[in-house]
Amino acid sequence: TTGKPDISREKSAELFEKAKTYFPGGVNSPVRAFKSVYGTPLFIQKGDGCHVWDADGNQFVDFCCSWGPLILGHNNAKVREKVIEVMQHGMSFGAPTALENDLAELILKNNKFIEKIRFVSSGTEAVMSAIRLARGYTKRDKILKFEGCYHGHVDALLVKAGSGLVTFGETSSAGIPKAFADETIVVSLNDRDALKKAFEEFKDQIAAVIIEPIPANNGLLLQEKEFLQFIREICTENKTLLIFDEVISGFRISFEGAAGYYQIKPDIITYGKIIGGGMPVGAYGASKEIMSNISPEGAVYQAGTLSGNPVAMGAGIAQLSELLRLGFYRDLNNKTEEFVASIQRFATARNYKFKVFSVGSIFWFAFTDLEHVRKAEEIDPTSMEKFKLMHRELLNRGIYLGPSGYEVGFISSAHTKVELEKAKRAIFESLDLVFRK
Ligand code: PMP
Repeated sequence: TTGKPDISREKSAELFEKAKTYFPGGVNSPVRAFKSVYGTPLFIQKGDGCHVWDADGNQFVDFCCSWGPLILGHNNAKVREKVIEVMQHGMSFGAPTALENDLAELILKNNKFIEKIRFVSSGTEAVMSAIRLARGYTKRDKILKFEGCYHGHVDALLVKAGSGLVTFGETSSAGIPKAFADETIVVSLNDRDALKKAFEEFKDQIAAVIIEPIPANNGLLLQEKEFLQFIREICTENKTLLIFDEVISGFRISFEGAAGYYQIKPDIITYGKIIGGGMPVGAYGASKEIMSNISPEGAVYQAGTLSGNPVAMGAGIAQLSELLRLGFYRDLNNKTEEFVASIQRFATARNYKFKVFSVGSIFWFAFTDLEHVRKAEEIDPTSMEKFKLMHRELLNRGIYLGPSGYEVGFISSAHTKVELEKAKRAIFESLDLVFRK
């Protein structure tokens, strides 16, 4: 028994059957296919505030928020109006517009960690370009990444660690030449010795260390500030650039992202998601000196037909302007903290093997009794069965979480107290069902 009848997915199922004839696996991005949770993926028809509605008319409080970009919730009036205003004058020119200056100014004036920026069209593109910049700048080839950090579907970064402290990358995807993966070194998070060993073994060969300073793609693997500082120091000592991939944490944890939160200055920062207000945008930024290596000023080539697209810039300007309002992050983070603490109290009181990890307005439901989860390998894969049950129960109670237990949830400024209370009750009921099975 599931406690409640399953929601109707008739229309979604019909759409999915059709989609399967058009797209591999029926989707345009893999996790959307609901492979690791119950049932047919829900086809979303509309969103407003903290709610989404699917094709069958089911309503949900949405904690996926398009995987992070929608920090103001769905269909925010200020963002929508700005987009419509811009669109009335054309959608793309492939030539500079004042809107690019406006968004850049908004960012650079309020972020002391970068001096120049380049807009691209996705997080993947931002990371790919940052890696090329680091290699061009240092004239070195190797990249070091951490197991459990996702950086988009960049060839050199779709690799995982094998056994041992330091390993050469082994690809996690077909279609990546071994020679590319060989340039990638993978180490565990929270492991100073592995990092030291990698720098000894590949002395003067590592162009960049890339990390999600708040790793949020393999659960929420919160790192200690001291570890991030250690990475900063070892990079400086070895003339290796430090790249913070802030595609999720940028403008989410604070306006200055995780760099601001930890007060650690990386050499290059990548952004995506929130920066585009829900439109396809990414960006990377660094000091003037490092950025001067980008074409047409420097020798590192990087370009894009739709880069700095005016409609996307408009959405970004409208969204980021809201984030700069006094108290925006304080209110959002307080709201999240209350939500998370109350769920944790409930689970602890009932002795459930369940933790809610959170930072800022990001949270992760983990079926564990560990006090901290800092490395990918500390997650028990069998615990995902519990998430799968919970996901189904939550959908049946009008709560939408991203369809994977390894993904984090997001709270937006549009999540009202009333809706969060409703969500809590649904979460309590679902936990009871999951643990009493
Ligand atoms: N880096 C990080 C940290 C991400 O979370 C993501 C996407 N989830 C990416 C890069 C890739 O961004 P996109 O999906 O926009 O290409």
